[in-house]
Amino acid sequence: MQQPRLQPRGVSPGASEFAGKTALVTGSTSGIGLGIAKAFAAVGLKVAINGSGATPAKIAEGEKLAAGLAARYETEVVFLKADLRQPAEAPRLVSEVSRAIGPVDVLVNNAGVQHVSAVEDFPADKWDEIIALNLSAAFHATRAVVPGMKARKWGRIVNVASAHALVASPMKSAYVAAKHGLNGLTKTVALEVAEHGITVNALCPGYVLTPLVERQIPDTAKARGMTEMEVVRDVLLKAQPTRQFVTAEEVAAAAVFLCSDGARSITGIALPLDGGWTAQ
Ligand code: NAD
Repeated sequence: MQQPRLQPRGVSPGASEFAGKTALVTGSTSGIGLGIAKAFAAVGLKVAINGSGATPAKIAEGEKLAAGLAARYETEVVFLKADLRQPAEAPRLVSEVSRAIGPVDVLVNNAGVQHVSAVEDFPADKWDEIIALNLSAAFHATRAVVPGMKARKWGRIVNVASAHALVASPMKSAYVAAKHGLNGLTKTVALEVAEHGITVNALCPGYVLTPLVERQIPDTAKARGMTEMEVVRDVLLKAQPTRQFVTAEEVAAAAVFLCSDGARSITGIALPLDGGWTAQ
C-alpha cells in the first residue's frame, strides 16, 4: 500500500493552495529576497533563488544555500545565477527555472542595488546600473513570465519597491527614480493582466537592516559629514516613526499574503511597510 506523503514541514493545511506552484525570487541570496524565499519554501512553494553569481565562490554559496533550504522545508529549491543588469538574462533565467522546477507562477522582482551621492557627483555608470537592475530587470522578467501565467490563468507578480517609491530622500537620485518607475510598471501591468487571474503589486519597505543598508551607512556618513551612529539614528531611523528597522520576515509575510488566493482582488497597489514613514 502506498504510504501517505508527509506534509512538508512548516506547511499548515490552509497554506496548501501553494503546493505544486513555482516561485522565482530575484536577488535572493541575502536580505529581503532570502527572507521571501524562506517564507515561500515554508508554505510549500518550489523556489528558485538567484544572485549574480559573479564568482565560483558565490555560485557555490548559492547552491549550498538552496540545498539547505530544500532540506529544511522539504520542497524543491534551486539556485540559478543571472546578472540581471543584462537585459537578456531575465528571460534566460525564467526559462531555466521552468526547465529546473516548473513554469514560474510567482515572480518576485527583488534584486536591487543602491548608490548614495549628490546628483552632480553621481557616476553615470552607477545611474545606468541602478536603472538596469532595480527597474529594467523587472520589466524584462515580467515580460517573460506573463504569457505563461496568462495561459495557466493564474499568476502573482510582487515587485519589491521601497518607501523610496513613494517619497524621496536626497543623494539617491537613481534609486528613487528607479523605485518610482517600478511603481508605475506595477500599476500598468496590473491593469493589463487583471482579467487573467494575475495580480501585480509592489511592496514598499522602509529601512531593513540588510547588507544593502549596511553598505550605505559609511557612504551616507561621508556625504553628510556625520558619524555612522548618527546616520542610523538621525537619518535612517529618523524617517520611521516606530524608530525601528523593518525586518525581512515582515516583508516576506506580506509577499506570502499577496500571493495567496485571499489576495486575488488586490492588484496594482503599493503597500508601505515602513513604520509610518510615508504617513507623515
Ligand atoms: P541585499 O544587498 O541584501 O540583497 C541584494 C540581492 O540582490 C542579493 O541576493 C544579490 O546577490 C542580488 N544582486 C545584486 N546584484 C545583482 C545582479 N546584478 N543580478 C542579480 N542579482 C543581484 O539587499 P536588500 O536590502 O535585501 O534589497 C533587496 C531589495 O529590497 C532591493 O530591491 C532593495 O532596493 C529593496 N529594499 C531594501 C530596503 C532596505 O532597507 N534594505 C528597503 C526598501 C527596499
